[in-house]
Amino acid sequence: MNSYYNKTRRSTVRRRAGRGRYDRATIDAILDEGLVGHLGLVSDGQPFVIPMLYARRPDGEVPVIYLHGSPLSRVLRTLASSVPACLTVTLVDGLVLARSAFHHSVNYRSVVALGQAAIVADPQEKLAALDTIVERMVPGRTADARGPSEQELAATEVVALEVREASAKVRTGPPVDASEDYPLEVWAGELPITTTYGDPLPDSRCSLPVPDYVSAYRRAHAAPDLA
Ligand SMILES: Cc1cc2nc3c(=O)[nH]c(=O)nc-3n(C[C@H](O)[C@H](O)[C@H](O)COP(=O)(O)OP(=O)(O)OC[C@H]3O[C@@H](n4cnc5c(N)ncnc54)[C@H](O)[C@@H]3O)c2cc1C
Repeated sequence: MNSYYNKTRRSTVRRRAGRGRYDRATIDAILDEGLVGHLGLVSDGQPFVIPMLYARRPDGEVPVIYLHGSPLSRVLRTLASSVPACLTVTLVDGLVLARSAFHHSVNYRSVVALGQAAIVADPQEKLAALDTIVERMVPGRTADARGPSEQELAATEVVALEVREASAKVRTGPPVDASEDYPLEVWAGELPITTTYGDPLPDSRCSLPVPDYVSAYRRAHAAPDLA
């Protein structure tokens, strides 16, 4: 597996370049922790940025991200016509409160991935891609839930976005104030943000015990490593 995404003129982080990351471990970890991505493309001359679930294919030399939806959906139809696309995933780790309004910031990990998509037509790959999407949402779920019927498969389009260029940008740490502002009597620091999950709420027509993979659910959190 390539250990780096292609760093190109289009995918090079310029502003605060030191926060740019191009290694697959960092980028894949952000993609795997995120749940919702924002898919950008141009349709009939109009840019659209549409929120969607996504899942990174866990193997393979070429990085691939699966997306799914109705074959009637504009975003899926446009994607399937091989237009250039951009998927952005953002994880917000904290608010950064500086002594001056100007230096306020957020700690974050984000990925911008550029590529082109194609319909996943092979039935085996389509089933595997849908399993990947479900497993990325809730690991363990595909061994439990009923798989898709022929009719459900026909009513679902799956596209594979082959990532040709990608960058991550990561900010961590305290505020960085102007040196003359440090003596100010203003509280400064970080307010961390963590995502937590509530207690499972069983469907009124379900009397089964809550599976361990639901009650113990949490998304892997990859602490940013800036070494
Ligand atoms: C968290 C989340 C996850 C989702 N996951 C998926 C997924 O995995 N697959 C999938 O197919 N869809 C998903 N959706 C729905 C998706 O955002 C689109 O609504 C859907 O794909 C239809 O897209 P379309 O291009 O056909 O839009 P149309 O139905 O053609 O929509 C027409 C117009 O409505 C507006 N619109 C469309 N969607 C939204 C929206 N979500 N919010 C506000 N305005 C909107 C836009 O202006 C759009 O151009 C998700 C939505 C959210 C919020």
